[in-house]
Amino acid sequence: MTISKEKNYFKNVSKEQIYKELVKIFGQENVSDKSGDLYPYSYDMTECEPKMPDFVVIPENKEQLVKLVKYCNQYLIPIVPYISGNNVGGLTIPEQGGIIVDFGKKMNKILHINENMMYAILEPGVTFGQLAKHLEDNYPHLRYCYPFAPPYAGVVGNALLSGMNNMSCKLGSMGDSINGLEVITAEGDIARIGSCFYGKDEDDPDTWHYRSPVPDLMGLFLNWQGMTGLVTKCAVQLWPNEPIKKTVIVVLLSRIGHIGEILREVGRTEVCEDVAIGCFELIKMSAGIPEPKSFPEEPRMFANCTITAKTKNQLKARMEILENTLESLKEKGVELTHFDADDFIKLFDLRVRSYLDLPAVVLSLVEYSGLTWFGSYAPTHVIDELVEKVEKIFNKHNVPYFMYMKPMKYSHYSIFRPILRYNKYKKGEEQRYHALIEEITDTCLDAGCIPYKTPTWMTEKMRKKINPGWIKLFEKIKNCMDPNGIFNPGRWNT
Ligand SMILES: Cc1cc2nc3c(=O)[nH]c(=O)nc-3n(C[C@H](O)[C@H](O)[C@H](O)COP(=O)(O)OP(=O)(O)OC[C@H]3O[C@@H](n4cnc5c(N)ncnc54)[C@H](O)[C@@H]3O)c2cc1C
Repeated sequence: MTISKEKNYFKNVSKEQIYKELVKIFGQENVSDKSGDLYPYSYDMTECEPKMPDFVVIPENKEQLVKLVKYCNQYLIPIVPYISGNNVGGLTIPEQGGIIVDFGKKMNKILHINENMMYAILEPGVTFGQLAKHLEDNYPHLRYCYPFAPPYAGVVGNALLSGMNNMSCKLGSMGDSINGLEVITAEGDIARIGSCFYGKDEDDPDTWHYRSPVPDLMGLFLNWQGMTGLVTKCAVQLWPNEPIKKTVIVVLLSRIGHIGEILREVGRTEVCEDVAIGCFELIKMSAGIPEPKSFPEEPRMFANCTITAKTKNQLKARMEILENTLESLKEKGVELTHFDADDFIKLFDLRVRSYLDLPAVVLSLVEYSGLTWFGSYAPTHVIDELVEKVEKIFNKHNVPYFMYMKPMKYSHYSIFRPILRYNKYKKGEEQRYHALIEEITDTCLDAGCIPYKTPTWMTEKMRKKINPGWIKLFEKIKNCMDPNGIFNPGRWNT
């Protein structure tokens, strides 16, 4: 049930006064306090506890937001930045009520594409689908990279949360690929971070090319889940759109071990821009089987290895390196086979292509009303141990196991993500799946995994393990950036 509590800040200013001020700033048509309008912002697809906001506003420009921040800072009113709420971590659920700032509706312009230095300056509401279409239509020689998130999810939200996309084997997390930000701080100042910092009032759109060599203030806003300021512009790197793309599906035939080895060795070839490893059931789901069972004689895991190239010869050389690596793994006793993904896909309908042609709605992730996961950065050497342990936990809870992994930055670290799909509206299911994800979380935290896009119940567990010096510094910075606790309060148990 959605909870609506009496809010502390109404002691400072009445709800009616706030509403009047919001209308003054944003205009009547861009403000609501009606429960029907607020309800969609009170929950997401996870099992995180719903909480009602008190208002939603739809901003059109930064000047409105400066006025909002100054007002909220004066009366201690929480502000929760929101793009499309697809973070799968409860991050936009207003823990302490307040005002949802919905960037997705009007602050969604692609402001500038710099072809020379290959970057895009985006307002926070730009979606993956929108950016993909814009590049395809106007700059077909450039590309961005995409997660398994639906095309209507936000590019900037994904980058600010250090998401991982379909070039992450090569690039690492998307947080690394942000060139610059424009941010409104708690005092209502507009700060520009990165090489765009020249220019007192306005920026020159052709100066958003990198974030060094000045002190890197980007970390004050990355992964903070909207707790340190409101981002109004973000520059993300683009890359040349290689004309040739091939995906090789590697199937691991042996039932135990070797996943970490494949992940590490294939990543290290430096020829794949993405390596997506999933349990075999994922292949079945993608082929239209909703809740596939695992049979003992079946293969266990597969890896989609994507190679791009400028010429046929370059592709040939890269394929040779990948195939040599797979051969040497076989010589070491790893039982595997591989084939061209295009041949495999021809056997099925177009839906299977969506896994390769992102951004797309990947049906196996969204076909149920509930979705939650333990998404983490994991040390590669614990992957095999984790797969064994987590599979047992899934089995214990009588839920088909579903895991996804990826080498990052050519195997410097990995992604480990057990995924839970469930029926949100079936009685008792949220509690059942929460017990499962909690047990997975405990196991993975013990193995050294660092979860991303963390709900508060998860950060509470993490805090027990984190170095106290880090927590002290983290809280000092949060207090300094947001002394009145107005930005997405309650996240990370602040
Ligand atoms: C089916 C599915 C599959 C997915 N697969 C992947 C995947 O493969 N890889 C991956 O990385 N992610 C994946 N995701 C998550 C998703 O890509 C990102 O988390 C998402 O793109 C974030 O955008 P959003 O529009 O959902 O942002 P929101 O959820 O609306 O916001 C994200 C966070 O950013 C904060 N925020 C929003 N706007 C601002 C602002 N202007 N200033 C400051 N803070 C702000 C919010 O408060 C919140 O904490 C998946 C999601 C789904 C539903």
